[in-house]
Amino acid sequence: MLTGIDGKILHLRELDFIERTLYGEVLSPEEFYKELKKYLENNFDWKNKQVFTTGELKRVDDFISSFFAGRIEEAKIWLLRAYIIGRYLAQTDLTGVIFNIGQVNKLPKFVLDAAQRYGLTLEEAEAMRLAIEDGASLMSNTTAGTVQTVRNAIVEALKQGKGSAGVYDKIKELITKDTGELNRDWMRVAVSETNSAFNNGYLAMMKPGDYVAGMSMPDACDFCLTEINGQVFKVRAGAPKDYTNLDPNSEEYRKIAEIWEKEVWVGKNNFGRSTSRRKRINPLLGNFKDNLIEKEHHEHSMASIPAHPFCRCRWIHINPEVQWIDKDGQIRLRVEDEDGWERWHGIAID
Ligand SMILES: [Zn+2]
Ligand SMILES: [Zn+2]
Repeated sequence: MLTGIDGKILHLRELDFIERTLYGEVLSPEEFYKELKKYLENNFDWKNKQVFTTGELKRVDDFISSFFAGRIEEAKIWLLRAYIIGRYLAQTDLTGVIFNIGQVNKLPKFVLDAAQRYGLTLEEAEAMRLAIEDGASLMSNTTAGTVQTVRNAIVEALKQGKGSAGVYDKIKELITKDTGELNRDWMRVAVSETNSAFNNGYLAMMKPGDYVAGMSMPDACDFCLTEINGQVFKVRAGAPKDYTNLDPNSEEYRKIAEIWEKEVWVGKNNFGRSTSRRKRINPLLGNFKDNLIEKEHHEHSMASIPAHPFCRCRWIHINPEVQWIDKDGQIRLRVEDEDGWERWHGIAID
């Protein structure tokens, strides 16, 4: 059994390799700590330091942003490779011929190289570029979060009179401990964006109208095990129209809600959605009865991969005319059990 950097099960050695490279070498929270400490030591006179001015904090922000900016560029190479592996696996599943991925670090580095090597159409190359840019922009958001967290650590430690030692201790804890907020953030990005790129690469090889089944790892969460594992979805060309501002009782809203439930597309995600059934009326108050209302459809998590941070599920192509999925989530052949297929087909495909 293959376990990833977060101790969870994953299905493909090549993706594990990419996650480890992204997290450990490219984003490398450890190296970030070392560089940040060096920067703080060399640029500030800690002996008499009581406070950081706004200007000084801004310089630290800039240091952090530029540290990660270069690394995010490098991270794109690995997201592209995860995407390409998704394409390879799709090709294998579609044709039954096993395509050798070869060494992951020999795969193309840039979209242009990939487009040439695999003879991609303009649309395919553009879809590839977009998927990589989406992943990179989530990494930029994480950089912004890191800037804020480091800022708070500096201000707090100085306020408590702990000086440079207090600042370093606090940042070290955030970055190097398993439970450290920054460590978790960067690990989450490495895992989630690798799986996102991989699954988008896979879905990009499907034609609209094809079907995919979700496959979860044995240690997946309840949401993935019930909503994704063994469930079948129709592939569509792109996202349906935004329905968050439509009247939830309208026909149009209901139609789009159904698409979200039964179909998947490249880039489908749960941003702005959650698995909780209800939400707070006043977000600043607690979860007591009078402060909770039922959420609308567009606020609920739907089957998408990743369904949430750290999700390791994957899509797998299925032909519902000759295959079906049994109650254990296994893909079976129709010829093995015609009755089983018929019962399943009536419910899953209709
Ligand atoms: Zn899950
Ligand atoms: Zn999952």
